[in-house]
Amino acid sequence: MFRNFKVVPRVIFGRGSFDQLDEILQPQRTDADGFMVFLVDDVFSEQPLAGRIPVKEGDLLIWVNVDDEPKTAYVDELRDRVYRHGKTSAGVVGIGGGSTMDLAKAVSLMLTNPGSSADYQGWDLIRHPAVYHVGIPTLSGTGAEVSRTTVLTGPEKKLGINSDYTVFDQVVLDPDLVAGAPADQRFYTGMDCYIHCVESLQGTFLNAFSQAYGEKAMELCREVFLKEPPDADEKLMMASYFGGMSIAYSQVGVCHALSYGLSYELGVHHGIGNSIVFNYLEEFYAEGVAEFREMLDRQKISLPRHLTANLSDAAMNRMIDVALVLAPLWENALGPQWRQEMTRERIAALYRQM
Ligand code: NAD
Ligand code: ZN
Repeated sequence: MFRNFKVVPRVIFGRGSFDQLDEILQPQRTDADGFMVFLVDDVFSEQPLAGRIPVKEGDLLIWVNVDDEPKTAYVDELRDRVYRHGKTSAGVVGIGGGSTMDLAKAVSLMLTNPGSSADYQGWDLIRHPAVYHVGIPTLSGTGAEVSRTTVLTGPEKKLGINSDYTVFDQVVLDPDLVAGAPADQRFYTGMDCYIHCVESLQGTFLNAFSQAYGEKAMELCREVFLKEPPDADEKLMMASYFGGMSIAYSQVGVCHALSYGLSYELGVHHGIGNSIVFNYLEEFYAEGVAEFREMLDRQKISLPRHLTANLSDAAMNRMIDVALVLAPLWENALGPQWRQEMTRERIAALYRQM
């Protein structure tokens, strides 16, 4: 079966394009009681961007905190806050990194689907279309702006709500918005994109569609992190978009599977978690790891170490369980026989080095 996947129908790109948001939202404001919900990373609460958000009378602006990556309980709480404000939200706009964009996707889905967001972690469990939702990245790399998932940590698992309804109706790609990101955060989120490309291009699911996007995204990452061109913010933003398109028709691999476990148990953020794991994956991705180390050097980033030094056996087992649930990732990386190759002991040995 071929995947018949949905893409973001509307994209605006360019420095300063954020200022067209008001005009973009206007056609959605049809119902007299309809209000817009803005979910904005609280890192911007005191910054000039705060004054540029087109909040109208009756709208709801919530500063979201992403010190922890999105949890299902937080999504449910945000949905309840929106309901307390009114029943007829016209749309949800997420402004921030991958975490904030994922919160916006999840809240827009939970405004039309009953129960808890934890009930929908998995593939195609969503029944009703989301309310109109817009993604505006302030970090480049995750590809969350184009993907059909919102990654959530629930009571039992870290797993996305994967569905066609998850995909944004509109994205606003304004490279000005990423300019102020701290260098290390910019690097880690950028490496998420680089690793998406390595895992997609070396995966068994690779096809010409994914390869076309993946190769271009990888070339852009190389330029950004090894040559630092003047339009690096533009290039990294497009790398993220293309990297996301690449994995939409293939899959990620070993690094993401292990990084999900690390993040579930230790709360390590996605970009940094991927970078920590990737550094130990020479046996799977030799060339990619060598180039990644060049980028680390060039960008003067030193990775955290000894994360798993004091981990109990129970915690290690939970991490392994989370990693092993992600069968499609392992299959992409190692082929259909992956279970014979990737034993619990081998995963534990990899984790122990980190
Ligand atoms: P993030 O959204 O987790 O943010 C990381 C930190 O950077 C936060 O402290 C945030 O406040 C801060 N920040 C964001 N933009 C900033 C800016 N312009 N200036 C200063 N600080 C800024 O980071 P991320 O790496 O973009 O996203 C990681 C998240 O994305 C994880 O939750 C991960 O699960 C998710 N993810 C989702 C997908 C998807 O397809 N849905 C794909 C990959 C990752
Ligand atoms: Zn990723």
